Amino acid sequence: NRLKKYYPITGGILQRRVGDVKAVDDVSFRIHKGESFGLVGESGCGKSTIGRTILRLTDKTDGEVLYQGEDIHALSKEKIRRLRPKMQIVFQDPFSSLNPRIKVGEAIGEALLDHGLIGRGELREQVYETLGICGLSAYHYDRFPHEFSGGQRQRIGIARALIMNPDFIVADEPVSALDVSIQAQIINLLSDLQQDRQLTYLFISHDLSVVQHLCTHIGVMYLGSMVEMAGKEELFSNPLHPYTKALLSAVPIPDPTVRRQRIVLQGDIPSPAHPPSGCKFHTRCPLAANQCRQEAPAYRDVGGQHLVACHFV
Ligand code: SF4
Ligand code: MG
Repeated sequence: NRLKKYYPITGGILQRRVGDVKAVDDVSFRIHKGESFGLVGESGCGKSTIGRTILRLTDKTDGEVLYQGEDIHALSKEKIRRLRPKMQIVFQDPFSSLNPRIKVGEAIGEALLDHGLIGRGELREQVYETLGICGLSAYHYDRFPHEFSGGQRQRIGIARALIMNPDFIVADEPVSALDVSIQAQIINLLSDLQQDRQLTYLFISHDLSVVQHLCTHIGVMYLGSMVEMAGKEELFSNPLHPYTKALLSAVPIPDPTVRRQRIVLQGDIPSPAHPPSGCKFHTRCPLAANQCRQEAPAYRDVGGQHLVACHFV
């Protein structure tokens, strides 16, 4: 069942429900073990909501989230608690969730203790090891959050997730706040960890160039809907949706002899509370025709697990 997440819009003096923001509207995809799925789109398209709904940090409106065949949203509190360590999240700014007065080492080990996975006596050693794996060191255990740079902060965020020995990690814009040179280091770290530990990722980003090195599969979202999905190579070599083509045209090509025509989209992203009729992308699409304003295009497989929603593909 496809995933839906709607938020009510209330209005009038009685604050009655007057409509819904369809933050996630009929989205479906599958991530196999060991894969890394890149979810891409402009801010507000529903990517983070999907990440949070998958982990049951947010309730769904409809649909299912199957994890190893079981619906995450149907599990008992006790079962979800036992599963929690296996499913972790890394945020754009891990610091907003760190207490400034708690030593970083303790913050990293906190959830291990909470889940009773380790005794106090073993904590330091376990955290030291994880700090090392994440490119920090034992020296950092007794430091406080404000003493770290942006890149180090993200290493702490990753360490907090990793120490739980997860199978699946949702990384929500983990490098978006970092300088480009630091971005590469963090992506390399995530990539190494994936290989060493057979991790599975949902990697959320507004930037296709960030997902291209790490992800095996890519889904492109626009205003709550998936508009295109394919394997990484296929998506980069054969993008079909006009929105994907525009996003891709902004990705720098390392080879200076190859030029890509930059496609600049006109207009702003419409409000998800009042999405355009028909194809939601029609207000910004360079190819929009009458049909696009009236009819929503079907989202269909054009062969080889390449799915796209556009009348003219
Ligand atoms: Fe553009 Fe029409 Fe295709 Fe939508 S259906 S992406 S508006 S051409
Ligand atoms: Mg977001």
